[in-house]
Amino acid sequence: MRFVQSHTGRLLKWSVRKAILVIILLVILVPVVFVVVRSATPVIDLNAQITTLGQATPVSVHVSDPRGVSKVTASVEENGARYAVWEMKEPTKAQDNTWSFTAGAKTTPQLHDGKAKLIIEATSNDLLHRTTRVERDVTVVTQPPSVSVDSEQHYLYLGMADLATFTVTGSWTAAGVRVGDQTFRAWPMPGGKPGLFSLFAFAWNMPQGTIPAVFASNGAGNDVTSPLTVQFPKKEQPKYTVHDLQVSDAFMQKVVGELDPNGSGDMVARFVKINNEMRKANNKTLSDLRLKTADHFLFSQPFARQAHSQAEATFADLRNYIYQGKKIDQQVHLGYDLAVTQHVGVEASNDGRVVYAAPLGIYGNCIVVDHGYGLQTIYGHLSRIDVHEGDMVKRGQVMGQSGMTGMAGGDHIHFAMQLDGVQIDPKEWWDPHWIQDHIARRVDLPGFSK
Ligand SMILES: [Zn+2]
Repeated sequence: MRFVQSHTGRLLKWSVRKAILVIILLVILVPVVFVVVRSATPVIDLNAQITTLGQATPVSVHVSDPRGVSKVTASVEENGARYAVWEMKEPTKAQDNTWSFTAGAKTTPQLHDGKAKLIIEATSNDLLHRTTRVERDVTVVTQPPSVSVDSEQHYLYLGMADLATFTVTGSWTAAGVRVGDQTFRAWPMPGGKPGLFSLFAFAWNMPQGTIPAVFASNGAGNDVTSPLTVQFPKKEQPKYTVHDLQVSDAFMQKVVGELDPNGSGDMVARFVKINNEMRKANNKTLSDLRLKTADHFLFSQPFARQAHSQAEATFADLRNYIYQGKKIDQQVHLGYDLAVTQHVGVEASNDGRVVYAAPLGIYGNCIVVDHGYGLQTIYGHLSRIDVHEGDMVKRGQVMGQSGMTGMAGGDHIHFAMQLDGVQIDPKEWWDPHWIQDHIARRVDLPGFSK
């Protein structure tokens, strides 16, 4: 009996100890859990465009935190020194906050042109005061860049291309040649030579008298431009011709059935819609391929024209679409229609890399080959595509078979070229003397010979 009592007593004592332990644990753990559960980490969103700091560059910071923020600061770090540039006035309980301020040499005169870091730190208003830090590499640019342009006379022809060389000094983030509202990128001279160059186009529809200019900007609102010395030889300017294209019922049904299979309503309206809206969208897709380009020449020979081909239409022909004696539409044809025989092997015009190989609306099955520096060739209406995006192709290599997919009434290859997304006349690039005079004479085109 005594034994049992004593055992029970020990059991009791043990239970009490256990209870005390649990209480102690709860006393410690509950607030910890509470703090952890109620804690938060601020999320900082710094506007993506900020890559440079000028005199007074606008900065916009968005911070979200369910508990609000107790502290937000911005600073700039350069050459190991850190300068405070902005601080939030007082803590806030609001979850979402956006602040705008300026940073740059005006408020931080110690900054020098060069690399720096913009640092944003935000501390949560919770009990743990968790801090998030975001760092952005920036370039401090207090002086505008300057450009110096080659002294060449640039002979320009509507719808065609040329090459300019120039140097940019000072800090800059973007440079190139601007023609009207079109911009052509600058590239470092090939072969490690000093300076820059741009291949640029004078588009088929660019107003005559537009003077191309080299530009450089530093991203901090300091743009400089310098005009090229240009000549527009009057006699040799291309004369674009106007053609009437008779639209038969069969052609209209073929095009509408293929490109708008689920549509309904008036056939003429659907045809015109395809010819306008789809053409526009397809040309945008082509133009956007400019960003898929190599930063070096992929070719070393003149461009080749499809063997034994007849040109049924040439660059920038104006086409009137005539249906039952009435003009229903008008479009500019920005390429060559090259016909040989049905299902002829479509040859790559030059060495390059395939950047598009798929159906593309009015162009049907379409291949685009990149030749470097934004120069690309386009092949449309194919019945078969035998290459894939990413494939390297050699000049003359068969990439598929001609056909009449898309807006084509008969078997042919729609061959076109574009430069930095602007469609140009390919004929100069078929001419070895032109490439020698305008390209190879001005920049290293390794292995090029007429
Ligand atoms: Zn065509």
